[in-house]
Amino acid sequence: MTEPAPVTFPNGRKLICDTCDNDVFESHRWKLQTTGMTLFNLDWANRDATCFVCTSCRRIHWFHT
Ligand SMILES: [Zn+2]
Repeated sequence: MTEPAPVTFPNGRKLICDTCDNDVFESHRWKLQTTGMTLFNLDWANRDATCFVCTSCRRIHWFHT
């Protein structure tokens, strides 16, 4: 976890909470991993996600990476 901070996308746009208009987020990287998927050769299902948690209302904004 990082210190809460504004989030800017590579295209220069800032992330704004779509619930409360806050612009300060905690960022987390979470694994979108389902144990057992490799048994079925579904390794492609194992991906990472970056999640920004609004410091005001706690809404989670997910971004696939
Ligand atoms: Zn919010």
